Amino acid sequence: MIRKMTGSEGMGKMLAVVKKEIGIGAQLEEIEVPGIGPKDVLIKVNAAAICGTDLHIYDWNPWAQNAGINLPVIMGHEFCGEIVQVGDDVTDLKPGDYIAGETHIPCGKCYQCNNGQQHICGNLQIFGVHTNGCFAEYTKIPAACARKIPSAIKPEIGAVLEPLGTALRAGLEIQVSGKVIAVIGCGPIGLFAIASAKAMGASYIIAIDVLDERLKLSETVGANIALNPMGTDVVAEIKKMTKGVGVDGFIDASGSVQAINDGFKYLRKGGEVALIGLPSKPISIDLGSDVVFKEAKIIGIHGREMYKTWIKMENMLSQGLLNLDPVITHTMPLEKFQDAVELLQAGHGSKIVLIP
Ligand code: ZN
Repeated sequence: MIRKMTGSEGMGKMLAVVKKEIGIGAQLEEIEVPGIGPKDVLIKVNAAAICGTDLHIYDWNPWAQNAGINLPVIMGHEFCGEIVQVGDDVTDLKPGDYIAGETHIPCGKCYQCNNGQQHICGNLQIFGVHTNGCFAEYTKIPAACARKIPSAIKPEIGAVLEPLGTALRAGLEIQVSGKVIAVIGCGPIGLFAIASAKAMGASYIIAIDVLDERLKLSETVGANIALNPMGTDVVAEIKKMTKGVGVDGFIDASGSVQAINDGFKYLRKGGEVALIGLPSKPISIDLGSDVVFKEAKIIGIHGREMYKTWIKMENMLSQGLLNLDPVITHTMPLEKFQDAVELLQAGHGSKIVLIP
């Protein structure tokens, strides 16, 4: 039976992680379960994952201060769960559906939205940044952003499909099959990029990070070799292992100025680059020798194509092609949110999944 309700009558209170005011921190609070509009769905959150963006908001760093966030806000944007209510205008979803959240909320009206590029909508809103998020027992999201996923996907993985899709799309864009690929930065996105590239048939994957703990993980998800620039001349080493040619492509998930510049040095002529990481300030690269004369192709990756990337990701997950379990280093109750943040801030763990 399709139950259609507007509002949250009788839903009562829920536990949520709320960023209340400027400055460091966020707190666990008991608040009202949100009411929904006609185009929304209300979801009982099964699992939610912590992203670097959440740490920026928690710390209220310069990025967060300028991200257009209205406080107070319920934190969190990576999640999966079960629909418990649908708005009056929602026809294609029903209570009981198992969904993951697409965090890019498109306007549906602008040039990009009318051009098959909703994920970079001109009026883009980000769920859990510009709206209340999912570090809570219940969350609401526009039905257009609730992606039905196969029931075989366990909640810990359902919660990370959003970052996984970003990483997987980078590999799709630079067509890694049969190629020698470097992945810079082995946080969760970099590790997902490695697992995806492996599944897509990259012939050799070079993982690069300054933390050995992360490099160890990179080898468990498919990296052929792990290089730490702190102790290795990465450019020389990669040139040597590719007989002076360089890599066919690299994916940056670090945002590090030095690492990106190094990447262009070991990129072969005609190579391709997918950029996911966000440098903290504008950076300079040598466009002449590193891009023009090399005929390098560069693409920025801002999330997943809706829903092209999701379809491919779900196909690959259904066939067991993606080795993701090593990336989920911790699963903790939502109440332990502070402990999870402290772990990540101390540089430990990779993806932490919270269970409300
Ligand atoms: Zn739009």
